[in-house]
Formats: sequence, structure tokens, C-alpha cells
Amino acid sequence: MHPTTYNAKAYSAVSATSRLASTKIKRRDPAERDVQIEILFCGICHSDLHSVRNEWSEFMATNYPIVPGHEIVGRVARVGPAVTKYKLGDLVAVGCMVDSDGTCPNCKAGLEQFCPNMVLTFNSPDEHLGGFTYGGYSESIVVDEHFVLRVPSNLNPAAAAPLLCAGITTYSPMHHWGVTNGKKVGVVGLGGLGHMAVKFADALSAHVVVFTTSPNKKEDALRLGADEAVVSRNADEMKKHAGSFDFILDTVSADHDINAYISLLRRDGNITMVGAPAEPLRVPAFSLIVRRRSLSGSAIGGIAETQEMLDFCGAHNITADVEVIPIQKVNEAYERLLKSDVKYRFSIDMASLKSE
Ligand code: NAP
Ligand code: ZN
Repeated sequence: MHPTTYNAKAYSAVSATSRLASTKIKRRDPAERDVQIEILFCGICHSDLHSVRNEWSEFMATNYPIVPGHEIVGRVARVGPAVTKYKLGDLVAVGCMVDSDGTCPNCKAGLEQFCPNMVLTFNSPDEHLGGFTYGGYSESIVVDEHFVLRVPSNLNPAAAAPLLCAGITTYSPMHHWGVTNGKKVGVVGLGGLGHMAVKFADALSAHVVVFTTSPNKKEDALRLGADEAVVSRNADEMKKHAGSFDFILDTVSADHDINAYISLLRRDGNITMVGAPAEPLRVPAFSLIVRRRSLSGSAIGGIAETQEMLDFCGAHNITADVEVIPIQKVNEAYERLLKSDVKYRFSIDMASLKSE
């Protein structure tokens, strides 16, 4: 059966080298358990940029046209007849996933992000309409209620949007690796993910050290909650921290020397990659062997954990530091993101789509 559809305004790119531009896309009318969300704000994640430019072609090639965006906050505008969790007007959110099979061991463990049939918010096959899923650079989106999150009412919607990717991606590995009171935690790269990592590690009462390539971010790092900030090009400053970290979160989006950070871990320390540079990193086996150190990766977080993270943010008043822009500035924002020229996340005000 083909679902009925409606038209929605959006921004899309038609090739790896084209700019994002105004378009109209089809969305399905909400079926049984679907929620239609009028999008208020959508954050700009570096993954949007990697995808639009097909930088991850080896791992997940981009299908065009692409409508990126997976840091979505909005209001419930319509619900399907079987929806029980949400009603019209609720402040809700959608992150990087919109579906999974619900039956595999990963789904049963609340780890939908590792489900082999997980459907990404954009650039995944769309089983309802054919083609590929379209993300949050749009006036609305239709999502199964299981993948819809509730936003605590005390949080500013524009600043809450980045929690749906930058937030959960940094919160989840900190929980997994036991970041608590008194642990020494490093955050590599002070961008969208990095600045959220600092806020979470600080809220968990860890001793937080930021490693940045941008000397002008040092002061901000301390304001955001870091106890120390190190400019990573300064070899002497780096040396002072050798062998001392329990946990390091690497959020860097481009090629870099990860060994410089592995060597800062203590015995049994862990460094987790959440940054996803297109090129492979060089890892000397000896750096891991000598102190039984480990290197791992982490992908966003499950739905239950995402709600837990949002509730944690509500309780601790944590949101992203955002620069709100109209969608017409999105191409300029991508150029600035590449230069690390944003403090610390762009959030698109979707009301700006109305004039398109
Ligand atoms: P972002 O805002 O651009 O931040 C990345 C930061 O990395 C920059 O602010 C910069 O920090 C540092 N950096 C950039 N280029 C560098 C270079 N050549 N050498 C060293 N440091 C450099 O990006 P983001 O949105 O936080 O995303 C970061 C990465 O995480 C991206 O690759 C993204 O695709 C990935 N990601 C992964 C997941 C997941 O589930 N694993 C989820 C979301 C995003 P300084 O100026 O402080 O040095
Ligand atoms: Zn993201």
C-alpha cells in the first residue's frame, strides 16, 4: 500500500559539489504510530557536511538529492490514530535515527543505533515512500513515535536541538566508560561535540582537560567547565599530562595524530573515537600494549539513553552554545564550520523557510 503524502519545504544538495538550495520534498501523512513534527530548529552537525560532500563514500555513500539534519526540535502537529506517547503541541525532538527492526538483540538491549536494520534520519532507504530518507533541514518530518523524544520544558529549543546528536554522542561513551567524580577526562577538539563533552564531564564532576588546536578557545574551554585547557601544538604542555588520563574522548573531524593522545592514558585507560575523519588514523601497537590501553569507538546512543540524556540536561540546565541562523545562511555556515569558526553549534531557525 502506498501512503498518501504532502509537500514540505526543505533545503537539499543535488551533488557533492553543489550548494544547499531550496526545494520541495514529499513526506508521508502520519500512519498508525507516526508523529508529524513542525520543525522549529535543526542543528548543523559536522556529519551533515561530511555527508553532503560525500566524504564518507567508502563507508556510507551519499544518495542525492540529500536533505541533511539530525538535530531536530519541534512541535507535534499531527498524530496517527495509535500514537500514545505524544499529543498536539508537545515539544519533541528527533535525532539520528527514525526506525529499526525492534526485534534484534541490539534493539532489545536499547541499542537501536547498532541494529542492522536501523534507518538513519537522512540518506537511508525509505521503506514508506521509496528513495531515501530526508532529514531536518525542512519545515516538518514524520517519524514513528518510538524514535521521538520529549524535550524538557525548561530548555531553550534552539539550544536543545544539538543535544540530539552532539549531546547523546558525547554523553553515551562517558557513561559506558564510567566517567564519574574525580576521574581525569580529556576532550580532544572543542567543536560541537567537544563543547558538549566538556559540559557533561563537568556535570559528572570529572577533572576535565580540553585539547585544542585553537589558542583562542582556551578561555572558552574554562568557561564551559574545563579545569585545564591545553593547546595541542605545545609539546611541553602535552608532556605534562603523559600517562595520566582515565578516559579521553576524541571528537576531531579531520586527520590528526591520535598517538599524541593515546600516550596520555594511564594503565587501562581508554580513548574513544567519536570524531569520524574520512582517512584512517595511524595507531602504533606499542602505545596500546605498554599500559594495556584501549582504543574504541562509539555511535550516538539508544533511544532510552537519549531520553535519559535530555532529562539529565533538563535537571542540570545543560544546552549547547548556539549561533542561530536562518536557513539562507547554511552554505556560509558550512564554510565557517570547516574553519572551526562557530561557538559552538549552528542552529537553524526553521521559521526562515517560510519565505522560500
Ligand atoms: P566540529 O564542530 O567541526 O568540531 C570538530 C573540532 O575538531 C573542531 O572544532 C576543532 O577543534 C577540531 N579539529 C578540526 N580540524 C582539525 C584538525 N585538522 N586537526 C586537529 N583538530 C581539528 O564537528 P562536530 O560536529 O563536533 O563533529 C566532530 C566529528 O564527530 C565529525 O567527524 C562528525 O562527523 C563526528 N560525529 C560522530 C558521531 C558519532 O556517533 N560517532 C556523531 C556526530 C558527529 P579545535 O579548534 O578545538 O582544535
Ligand atoms: Zn550528528
